[in-house]
Amino acid sequence: MATIDTPVLIVGAGPVGLALAGELGWRGIPCLLIEKGDGSIYQPKMDLVGIRTMEFCRRWGIVPWVEATPYPRDYQQDNVYVSAVCGFEFGRDRFPGMNGERPPPQSPQHRERCPQDMFDPVLKRFATSFPHVALRYHAELLSFEAVDGGVAATISDPRSGARETATAQYLVGCDGAASAVRLALGIEMAGNPVLTYTTNAIFRCENFLALHGKGEAYRYICIGTEGTYATIVAINGRDRFRFSIVGDERKRTYDESEVRALIVKAMGREFDFEVLTIVPWIRRELVADHYGGGRVFIAGDAAHLTSPTGGFGMNMGIQDAVDLGWKLEAMLRGWGGKNLLASYEIERRPVGIRNVREASGNLRRMLSPRSERVPPEAFLAGPEGERARKEFGEKFSALMRREWFTLGIHLGYRYEGSPVIVPDGTAEPPDTVSTYEQTARPGHRAPHVWLADGKSAIDLYGRGFVLLRFDAAADASSLEAAARERGVPLARVDLAHEEAARAYERTLVLVRPDGHVAWRGDAAADAASIIDTVRGAA
Ligand SMILES: Cc1cc2nc3c(=O)[nH]c(=O)nc-3n(C[C@H](O)[C@H](O)[C@H](O)COP(=O)(O)OP(=O)(O)OC[C@H]3O[C@@H](n4cnc5c(N)ncnc54)[C@H](O)[C@@H]3O)c2cc1C
Repeated sequence: MATIDTPVLIVGAGPVGLALAGELGWRGIPCLLIEKGDGSIYQPKMDLVGIRTMEFCRRWGIVPWVEATPYPRDYQQDNVYVSAVCGFEFGRDRFPGMNGERPPPQSPQHRERCPQDMFDPVLKRFATSFPHVALRYHAELLSFEAVDGGVAATISDPRSGARETATAQYLVGCDGAASAVRLALGIEMAGNPVLTYTTNAIFRCENFLALHGKGEAYRYICIGTEGTYATIVAINGRDRFRFSIVGDERKRTYDESEVRALIVKAMGREFDFEVLTIVPWIRRELVADHYGGGRVFIAGDAAHLTSPTGGFGMNMGIQDAVDLGWKLEAMLRGWGGKNLLASYEIERRPVGIRNVREASGNLRRMLSPRSERVPPEAFLAGPEGERARKEFGEKFSALMRREWFTLGIHLGYRYEGSPVIVPDGTAEPPDTVSTYEQTARPGHRAPHVWLADGKSAIDLYGRGFVLLRFDAAADASSLEAAARERGVPLARVDLAHEEAARAYERTLVLVRPDGHVAWRGDAAADAASIIDTVRGAA
């Protein structure tokens, strides 16, 4: 058996494994990413690239690649509530196409619509742009064991059965819902193992828009007298649609003829279409009890499984990758302390729990017409029906807006109580879903403020620690010296910028490589202790 040696072995080249490989590559850390499949995407899942993920893409320099994917940027993103696509419309929430979407005041970026079969190739191109990142398809992790200074993994080519060994200092399982790495570590998941038995079918229809008068929309939610029964999502903004049968316990799978009949029901008329794939799946709300430890970690769906309602799954997985990326670099370069990697679970697991719960709430709201039935008049033609539809539509839309506006979820996660954050004694602000107030309180994402020349404050962060100094007279030398003595990469940035000074609230603010505030104050009384805390050596 041949042996490969690598600092970091990443298992699974879904979006999270690709993002971790890219993040490590960008940091100059060699890694090997193995994937048991051939990289083809049987059924694209995610399509919402959240605003925080876009901020990471900005840092990685790949925003233009996302914008250049073939998703039509003028395709309207409405959510429409209908009895059937050709039936009655109860209401809609209007959203522009990507061309019309503007960044909110809190970010230099905005969320993007980019389905997995377009986004994965962007992440793959980014990861493999680094010569020190190796991506191997047809390479399945079979097992691994602890060895001196790392792990030894057995990898097999599923086509031939040929085996080889990889030794690594760290192993990260980004191997999805049925994670072999999580299972091997004996980590359980807690939460709700079954929310729905859903069936997704991708169908192709060339003239979908011409068949109905509802216009372009991202999602058509179909609600009958029995409640919400299906959704149709325009996954590539052209000819491909994901039909989702919400499903229930009594009927868990559907054959093609049943799927076809239900697509016709949701469309409200016969039409020509081709069913490309049918995938039954179980919607879950689960978070792993642990995210690994020592030399082996899990990230992405391996660590948390969520209802897609809200589009949080991949986005929080990529946040996992970014949290872990700089910590692995710190360990491999020798400046990370013995507690640094333990902070990964402490920081990321509460975010997982928060997000999967929110997603389940979104699901409940979407399915609420099952219990609080739509009034029967809403399915009648004429003015009485119109009145009932308007009333129901407005109520339903008010409920659903919590899912459509999630700035707080994507940007407002914070690392409260993390052992590598130095608290400043201020009270934790409320954790909101739809709104988001920026704060430079330790543990939070460092605020965006426009600096000169189209540059955001967040563009300063990423490589090492950044010490912002808003008053040139303030003494930063003890922090700089403490970092230097410990080999911690730290760059001081002097900012004479009133708006930034107001947003950051203190004279000195220490920002981590992942863009979260680690410490702030008007003077660094005990610089050595601050630097030791933030590098996990306290
Ligand atoms: C219908 C639907 C819509 C969604 N929409 C969104 C959305 O809009 N936004 C969002 O953020 N999330 C969304 N999600 C969730 C999102 O798709 C997942 O969270 C995301 O794909 C998880 O990525 P991952 O890389 O962790 O895992 P996966 O995508 O599952 O990738 C894991 C990879 O590991 C490989 N693998 C497994 N075992 C091994 C092994 N032993 N050796 C080697 N390779 C292995 C697998 O082949 C696979 O390629 C949606 C999910 C669904 C079902």
